[in-house]
Amino acid sequence: DRPEVRNVRCGAADLNGQARGKRVPRKFAAKLEEEGTRFPFSILNLDIWGEDVEDSPLVFEAGDPDGVLMPTERGYVPMPWLNSPSALLPMWMFHEDGTPFAGDPRQSLARVLDRYKARGLTPVVATEMEFYLVDDSGDGIRQPRSPRSGKRRPGAEILSLRALDAFDVFFNDLYDACDAMNIPAEAAISEVGMGQFEINLEHVPDALKAADDAWLFKMLVRGLARNHGMAASFMAKPYEEYAGSGLHTHFSVMDADGNNLMANDTFQGTRLLHNAIAGCLKGIPDLALIFAPHGNSYERLVPESHAPTGVCWAYDNRTASVRVPGGSFKARRVEHRVAGGDVNPYLFLAAVLGSALIGIEDDLTPPPPISGNAYEQDMLQIPDTWAAAIDAFESSPLVRRIFDNTLVDNFVMTKRQELHYFAELSEEQQLELYLDTV
Ligand code: GLU
Ligand code: MG
Ligand code: MG
Repeated sequence: DRPEVRNVRCGAADLNGQARGKRVPRKFAAKLEEEGTRFPFSILNLDIWGEDVEDSPLVFEAGDPDGVLMPTERGYVPMPWLNSPSALLPMWMFHEDGTPFAGDPRQSLARVLDRYKARGLTPVVATEMEFYLVDDSGDGIRQPRSPRSGKRRPGAEILSLRALDAFDVFFNDLYDACDAMNIPAEAAISEVGMGQFEINLEHVPDALKAADDAWLFKMLVRGLARNHGMAASFMAKPYEEYAGSGLHTHFSVMDADGNNLMANDTFQGTRLLHNAIAGCLKGIPDLALIFAPHGNSYERLVPESHAPTGVCWAYDNRTASVRVPGGSFKARRVEHRVAGGDVNPYLFLAAVLGSALIGIEDDLTPPPPISGNAYEQDMLQIPDTWAAAIDAFESSPLVRRIFDNTLVDNFVMTKRQELHYFAELSEEQQLELYLDTV
């Protein structure tokens, strides 16, 4: 119904969250909506360089067959960062006979949500998007954008209004674009790093929409920053000397009547809250590969950085990997703080909600909450290398309770291939590759 739109894109998220799809003239849009389009299953399983995964049976043994991409329930989404009026039709993948392709990240989140639904439960989900605005004007040296010239101490602009004001034109455009795209952007703040910001997306009782929103938001911020003569980075740790960027989620679980099942009138919260926490903690070591999918992600998970290193939970404590935020008992919820900005939002929410569900299904009890500085306490650690996380993910029965074998095996093959080539990259080449790709 927007006659000015002359071309549309259709696209799906691959394992790394990269949008893969086609550009189609408007006159073919109706066909796209009804019949979808075809491209090889293996396209959702490319490595970060866009290379086929050599060991993948999809590509050679099976002859690289086509899957069917069909539109999601989201419908068209405007793409305000492009010059001509354009719209994106988000897609997901099916087999020819209409069954979902289990190697599609969005399908894997949908399967986790089916299991909540079967129990009469609905997760309510919000995400917190941290990113850097980067000076991309120079020849190769990509520094964070500082709102003031000259060297300031890292951290000087935390929650600073001056830093927000320095990018006011950008933020005006960003909020207008979020309105147009139906992305519920709430508060923006200036984060610890120089040129680092956070925008919260409001909680919604639809985790697929929350994942779509986060995926679209990353695309938007990167595109819009380009229009403003900058780059935007969701890399987990673009600069060693500055804070990393996280992608936290806050979630609760409600029943059919809309009651928050994590809340009662006590400080502790309900049994279900504790089940969900226990499930999340049990899942963290095995699911680390989802939360930290790149070599660079492991540089973020270091002490004293507000990013977690240990597997623990606490009330109102930002050194813990799982935090129960303070505030009204009615709003009791879980904040999962492990993931970096470089996650695939679909796999991320599938992992968080899937592990919480295991806690609920198995009626798990968490260890006692910690208090004080988690970095200084003896506890199980999150895997601290990419290779260790790949091994843990591959051999975990818990992971295979959440994700289909197809997804697990494809993800492991992809990450092994990336790890192999990553080992040869210098820091500069890493920044070049990941800066505004992930
Ligand atoms: N930037 C921190 C991280 O990497 C999070 C800071 C915060 O608590 O908002 O997770
Ligand atoms: Mg933050
Ligand atoms: Mg947070």
